[in-house]
Amino acid sequence: MMPQLISLVIPVYNEGPHIEASMRTVQKILLEHDIRYQIVLVDDGSRDDTWLALTRLAEQLPGIKSIKLSRNFGKEAALCAGLENADGDACIVMDCDLQHPPELIPQMIQLWREGWDVVEGVKSDRGQESGVYKFGAKVFYRTFQKLSGFNLRGASDFKLMDRKAVDAWRTMKERDTFFRGMSAWVGFKRYAMPFVVAQRTEGASKWSPVKLGRLFISAISAFSSLPLQLVTLLGGLFFLGSLVLALQTLYMKLSGHAFDGFTTVILLQLIIGSSLMLSLGIIGTYLARIYDEVKGRPRYLISTQVESLHTEST
Ligand code: UDP
Ligand code: MG
Repeated sequence: MMPQLISLVIPVYNEGPHIEASMRTVQKILLEHDIRYQIVLVDDGSRDDTWLALTRLAEQLPGIKSIKLSRNFGKEAALCAGLENADGDACIVMDCDLQHPPELIPQMIQLWREGWDVVEGVKSDRGQESGVYKFGAKVFYRTFQKLSGFNLRGASDFKLMDRKAVDAWRTMKERDTFFRGMSAWVGFKRYAMPFVVAQRTEGASKWSPVKLGRLFISAISAFSSLPLQLVTLLGGLFFLGSLVLALQTLYMKLSGHAFDGFTTVILLQLIIGSSLMLSLGIIGTYLARIYDEVKGRPRYLISTQVESLHTEST
């Protein structure tokens, strides 16, 4: 019987100078452990010579499938493209910068063979991240858990998924994806494997604060509609407050002090004005999401694709 095929799904964006070396490191580990593999590399519309490097890799090494997206769609979309084009009995999603240690791949596969459907890499140490970034991540995961009920603390996109988990994930049709949340949502037998985030040795992180902020909002709105209900709660609170104030105003009027209350009026204007805008913003976020989903545009577009002559390693 043929050994089971493992697909590595790797998004790549502007990593031209070092992608080849990284992939050779990964391949070496796979060969050493006699793993029958396929590596699906997705060029997320890089502006440097990444695509050239990916075609060269497909010419030189067996088991490489390189896919070029028509533009930069973002890591989430690149992951989708990779997973949808992977043929393995299990798929391992990882970054191309070796921050997800490839030495752990054999261990993940071992756990999968022992019967775990999803092996998740959980960051036991966030590596050399700045304090602000760590704090941001903490706020995000706390909020996410409160609102959605899924605990993603320490979660990463370093994951092995059995074919049935990948197929389950593929039935989720939303355009705007949040892989970490979605791969938790599908359930199955899960194993949390701690790992230490390696330092990025080559190139720089591709995440800007703006991109991270967008991911934050998109993830929360994809997994919880609680913010919308908070708007109602806010309305309720203001209604109670206004009852009290109405009584006070009437009392002032009746007792002949009607000119007082200038401060109250200004404060009320400010509070009501800002909370209305906040509420509209929250509603707008969901509206935008619905709009994006209704348009039904594809998550990504493929421009070209090359495969090694031997499409799988043997
Ligand atoms: N990436 C991508 N598209 C993007 C940004 C990043 O495909 O628009 C890839 C990138 O090449 C890498 C992975 O996503 O393989 C993680 O990116 P990065 O290392 O920059 O993020 P960090 O490790 O800082 O979270
Ligand atoms: Mg990285």
